[in-house]
Amino acid sequence: MSLKKLSLQEFNDGLLAFLNASPTPFHAVATMAARLNEAGFTLLDERQDWDCQPAGKHYVVRDGSIIAFTVGEQPLANEGWRLFGAHTDSPCLKVKPRPELLKQGVAQLGVEVYGGALLNPWFDRDLSLAGRVYIQSTTGELTSQLVDFSRSVATIPSLAIHLDREANNERKVNPQTDLPPAVLLGEEKSDLRQLLAVELGLSAGDQVLDYELCFYDRQAAAICGLKGDFISGARLDNLLSCYIGLQALLTSDSQGHAVLVCTDHEEVGSKSATGADGPFLSRVLERLAPDRVAFSKALVQSWLVSADNAHAIHPNFADRHDGNHGPKLNAGPVIKLNANQRYATSDETAARFRQLAAAENVPLQDFVVRTDLGCGSTIGPITAGRLGVKTIDVGVPQWAMHSIRETAGSLDSEMLYRITRRFFAGS
Ligand SMILES: [Zn+2]
Repeated sequence: MSLKKLSLQEFNDGLLAFLNASPTPFHAVATMAARLNEAGFTLLDERQDWDCQPAGKHYVVRDGSIIAFTVGEQPLANEGWRLFGAHTDSPCLKVKPRPELLKQGVAQLGVEVYGGALLNPWFDRDLSLAGRVYIQSTTGELTSQLVDFSRSVATIPSLAIHLDREANNERKVNPQTDLPPAVLLGEEKSDLRQLLAVELGLSAGDQVLDYELCFYDRQAAAICGLKGDFISGARLDNLLSCYIGLQALLTSDSQGHAVLVCTDHEEVGSKSATGADGPFLSRVLERLAPDRVAFSKALVQSWLVSADNAHAIHPNFADRHDGNHGPKLNAGPVIKLNANQRYATSDETAARFRQLAAAENVPLQDFVVRTDLGCGSTIGPITAGRLGVKTIDVGVPQWAMHSIRETAGSLDSEMLYRITRRFFAGS
């Protein structure tokens, strides 16, 4: 494991590779697990007994969610956990269970919209398909495999402006009828399960029983801008934060009780067996405490940095922000505050976070939504509510949140990484 602080170049190169290797939450978890394995973390099975000794490094996986942690040298009840949370999912188009459609000699796949996707940018993109597939062998054994077609297999063509003269004024997207991506020309429907069997190289007799697949943009994440000021790519919300937390954990050399928790289903409210509004985190933490009293003592001394991207002020739509609270790209990570607890930040957690940032010479920005607009939310308040743990909501600023291609600054993620590394190290 490299304990050396990553340079900006190393950090951003790794970030682009992480984004490109992680088209779905399942892939993000697999990518993180591989990095944790390399660094000496061992996978724990929730069905087994655990033996977590001081200085141990472990991780636990539930589907598209992962929790990685180091066991501190000091008793847990004396210092509590330092938690960093993010989410692995992003809005996308998910394939329906019986997706095959045939219209005008064009084979298409029916999709559901997952999360609050900005739909217009999905048109005229080279799309690929990835996810997880459940396979039944000839003996009836059920196994799962990740799949990534890793090539352009579909497109959603726009309707030409000549056939819709009002397109630039009032085009709306009907998700049921306008979105099914075109995958083939011919007079037969594509058989998706058959295509998956071929793609996975299954032997005759093996059967694809079910799947969770989503379309994603084939265009790779990249540094962008005349002077490389931007990073653009899909799923910046919230894989940036997953990567920040992972690198901070791997390079912090924490002697304390550090926890990285990256959960699925945030974009649909987090209420699931694996999401932040489910029992996953509390079940894992309970098993690390020697008894119920120690668990309670640990929780009241713990704090959670919940990281999810923030809306940067958009030069063409600057009035969408409060004048004093419009974060700029590359001007530092953002503390997100909401008086109505849509964010869990308190004066205390913000003050402590400001100390950490100052020690790293990292500037911070503050976001409060316009008082006449509703406020988004994230895993921070949910986790704070479930565990009773002090929490701050932070994030790197970005444009075009929930678009198929989002834009952030090329400096902010590395700044939040440095703060998080210090946070995990306990200094
Ligand atoms: Zn998010």
